[in-house]
Amino acid sequence: SRRFFVGGNWKMNSSNQHLAEHTKLLNSINADDVEVVIAPPSIYLCSVRDKLDKNIGVASQNCYFVDNGAFTGEISPSMLLDNDIRYVIIGHSERRTIFHETDELIANKVAFAISKGLIVIACIGETLAERERNDTLNVVYRQLTALKEKLENEAGWKNVVIAYEPVWAIGTGKVATPAQVHKAIRDWLTKNVSSKVSSDTRIIYGGSVTADNCKELAHQPDVDGFLVGGASLKPEFVDIVRARK
Ligand code: 13P
Repeated sequence: SRRFFVGGNWKMNSSNQHLAEHTKLLNSINADDVEVVIAPPSIYLCSVRDKLDKNIGVASQNCYFVDNGAFTGEISPSMLLDNDIRYVIIGHSERRTIFHETDELIANKVAFAISKGLIVIACIGETLAERERNDTLNVVYRQLTALKEKLENEAGWKNVVIAYEPVWAIGTGKVATPAQVHKAIRDWLTKNVSSKVSSDTRIIYGGSVTADNCKELAHQPDVDGFLVGGASLKPEFVDIVRARK
């Protein structure tokens, strides 16, 4: 069975003052049946790690596909692991659109991070224009295929959490009805990877998740958790972690 997974993607937000308060609140959640992972900006990773209870994970919002070298501005999977940061978000739509990351670059990063032992939250999802052209599944399958080409074997998928985040739902207040796409992703995994990977992989939803809509979303078939942006910085994140209760 797939453990419910709730990630808080702080994006380029927070401060020492905010995180001191917010980590206290997060430590009070007490939801051992949920995998909770917090992704602060990289400059705050170690501070958040120190402040959070050990049962809450910490994720980087990005990393490169080389261990060290002349890559100004980047951080590597081995540096994350060296600091006990065990998760990374890769391929967020903001990385894809604002920073021009391609399917291939993202797949390289995912495969390298997995090979080093990180747990990867791999983000996929269509834009509004793609959805309106009825291309949602084509886009999602293309993004998954790029990953499959770099993940050498079935074992690699064991440490992947797939985050389906339709771009038009991010930060807009528009929520998708993601069950159909999640089912399509699961079927794709059955056909293209294996039925074991398909039944074991968490497929989480991201895009305007709030305390108000999380319960309904959490009970949709094939929705194994959330990747939360804006609401993850607020006290309501506690309710989202408990969405299945
Ligand atoms: P919002 O929850 O702010 O819509 O952001 C979703 C997201 O991008 C999480 O990675």
